[in-house]
Amino acid sequence: TEELLRKSEKLSVVGQLAAGVAHEIRNPFTAIRGFIQFIKEGNYKEEYFHMILSELDRIQSVVNEFLVLAKPQAINFQPRELTSLLNQVVELLKTEAIMNDVQIEVEFERTFLMVNCEENQLKQVFINILKNAIEAMPNGGEIKIQLQQQQNAVSIRFIDQGEGIDEDRIQKLGEPFYTTKEKGTGLGLMISYKIVQAHRGSMKINSQKNRGTTVEIMLPTE
Ligand code: ADP
Ligand code: MG
Repeated sequence: TEELLRKSEKLSVVGQLAAGVAHEIRNPFTAIRGFIQFIKEGNYKEEYFHMILSELDRIQSVVNEFLVLAKPQAINFQPRELTSLLNQVVELLKTEAIMNDVQIEVEFERTFLMVNCEENQLKQVFINILKNAIEAMPNGGEIKIQLQQQQNAVSIRFIDQGEGIDEDRIQKLGEPFYTTKEKGTGLGLMISYKIVQAHRGSMKINSQKNRGTTVEIMLPTE
């Protein structure tokens, strides 16, 4: 099953997103308020604090991701070397991968590939995709990153052996707040897609239930 991510085109209105963020934040707020009320009434339980902290973390991740999105598109493109960018991101996620019994394997055809990009935004995309791949493999596994130079473009593939995505769910990818995770924000793919789009690239997802998922990003090299 394959799906070109273009859902977010319909949702470029910031107001719509803001409404979504408000909605996402309301539930944890209500929960936190409830726990504090309990404690105030003398129903002290240690676990309330864990719950309050985890709800606060949830608010924080929604807000963080929203900020990335809401940032003015002051795009400052610079020539950057792609393999070193990818290696930096892999390095960044190493601990998380090891903790989840996941190996990240880098298969680079060439070792020097220049792209015009906004470095931090592109890193954000790679981080989002790799995190999803790690999260899709609760029992560990392998993620392959393949790089291929094509005519006027470079293809970057992230291949995981995770749980995959149902055919009827794949159209939902890239819709804001669509998540199947208890602690998910459902913003990662949409943000990634927006960034790739700003780089005049494309993003494609190919998935087989219980087999794994491949995310392919194409970026122009000139
Ligand atoms: P989040 O990770 O916060 O849920 P994302 O936008 O990153 O939000 O992803 C949205 C949803 O897409 C995930 O909840 C998951 O269901 C699905 N998904 C994304 N990447 C993968 C993957 N590599 N394998 C399986 N499912 C995935
Ligand atoms: Mg994610």
